Amino acid sequence: MSLLITNIGELVTNDPAESGDLLGVRTDAAVVVSDGLVEWVGSAAEAPAADEVVDAEGRAVLPGFVDSHSHLVFAGDRALEFQARMAGESYAAGGIRTTVAATRAASDEQLTAGVARHVAEMRRQGTTTLEIKSGYGLSVDDEARSLKVARQFTDETTFLGAHVVPPEYADDPAGYVDLVTGPMLEAAAPHASWIDVFCERGAFDEDQARTILAAGAAVGLKGRLHANQLGEGPGVHLAAELGLAAVDHCTYLTDDDVHALRDAGTVATLLPGVEFSTKHPYPSGRRLIEAGVTVALASDCNPGSCYTSSLPFCIALAVREMGMTPAEAVWAATAGGAAALGRTDVGRLVPGARGDLLMLDAPTHVHLAYRPGVPLVVRTWSA
Ligand SMILES: [Zn+2]
Repeated sequence: MSLLITNIGELVTNDPAESGDLLGVRTDAAVVVSDGLVEWVGSAAEAPAADEVVDAEGRAVLPGFVDSHSHLVFAGDRALEFQARMAGESYAAGGIRTTVAATRAASDEQLTAGVARHVAEMRRQGTTTLEIKSGYGLSVDDEARSLKVARQFTDETTFLGAHVVPPEYADDPAGYVDLVTGPMLEAAAPHASWIDVFCERGAFDEDQARTILAAGAAVGLKGRLHANQLGEGPGVHLAAELGLAAVDHCTYLTDDDVHALRDAGTVATLLPGVEFSTKHPYPSGRRLIEAGVTVALASDCNPGSCYTSSLPFCIALAVREMGMTPAEAVWAATAGGAAALGRTDVGRLVPGARGDLLMLDAPTHVHLAYRPGVPLVVRTWSA
């Protein structure tokens, strides 16, 4: 089964060989997808025949968004906490415990239905690859079942038992690290590809993060980190030292952190929805890009610090608040997200890549920032 999408006004390929610009933009373009893979990219005038033909009528077509950071396995709602924050209360990591209680009380069916709803919501906004973390179970059984639920929707599942120390271990954080690196890891590992730690004041310190990542690596899980969200700290440097694929948040960075990320090739995943929803200052994407750091944009969709599932919204914020051009923001939400997951088969439209695409009801990717809040994604295709 082959699909030809033709009369594409602007095709973003993320292949710099196409046109020499960051997004590898082609105009008056066409693309053929066959058996789930991109088979051909070229000009509409030279498009080959296919089983099915879609006329884009001059619209823009992009690689599907790659959301490399989400927390979709949860129950409950924290709208009142958001309301209080907007009225001036500050955000602290401890709010996670509210969601832990609700998640533990939910059935597998309720958790699965919640993830399905959010994945569908993401898909409608152009996301075709996503990562999902556990981290609201924080017990052996609840972390394992959270990952089992997540695995029904993506292979990019991340064990985040080290999200916060749960209330029952409040007086024994070392005992909790032993649990995370012992029985919890053993139960979680068969359902996870990644291991993550919230390395932050109020969560886990550098030594604990190091221990947990090492335990994960020993059973084949790749590491990633939440770090430098609430203030400067050791997490970003640790991620670079360990050569992790990505370190996420990066809101507060020293020059030394920036250089370490560049030298290690570790992706800085920026999550501007969090700054929006916590009223924290935005990090500078410009600073990172100019230093030569690879930047990804992700949603961090979660019920506490950032309840958006929309990468178009994150792109608009990155352009408006983080000094990124529309092209840089779109790259970060596609190829950047792919890099943050160590993937080369998504985030770009070149022969052999997955046939994951989105169409905008707009002539150019610039509209994603130019028309914030408007549902511009009219169609997605996913392998
Ligand atoms: Zn997160």
